[in-house]
Amino acid sequence: MELQKIASFTVNHLKLEPGIYVSRVDHFGDVTLTTFDLRMTAPNREPVMNTAELHTIEHLGATFLRNNKMWQDRVVYFGPMGCRTGNYMILEGDLTSKDVVPLVTEMFEFIRDFEGEIPGAAAKDCGNYLDQNLGMAKWLAKRYLDHTLYNITEDHLVYPQ
Ligand SMILES: [Zn+2]
Repeated sequence: MELQKIASFTVNHLKLEPGIYVSRVDHFGDVTLTTFDLRMTAPNREPVMNTAELHTIEHLGATFLRNNKMWQDRVVYFGPMGCRTGNYMILEGDLTSKDVVPLVTEMFEFIRDFEGEIPGAAAKDCGNYLDQNLGMAKWLAKRYLDHTLYNITEDHLVYPQ
């Protein structure tokens, strides 16, 4: 079987910086889904995130999105990239990066400011509930906000050529 290179492997990761990018738009009958690349570190140039903090970002991010009154009915998925440089967010609709800047900003403010028990971090609710790091998740959320989201420009919203 000859393997086709999938779309996300054709992005030039050597030039990619933290940002919000449309990874792909898929049509299934009448339904359109947009997959966002929420890139948090510069690939191959900055340290990746550790799994514990990425796991905490997943729990808090998913909780935020599914409780967000404006978007909750359009949320399909939120979770980490295997390379640990960012997260994927899948929403219903044909959307642009600009459409979700306020949502993503609010989500990472929620993570940055979160205090208390991490939702779902219990043996009954999660497959590896002890693998969490709230302190680092908050630090990484603040870094993404301060360095990328608060003053986001066009070149951090569209994939580099
Ligand atoms: Zn979990």
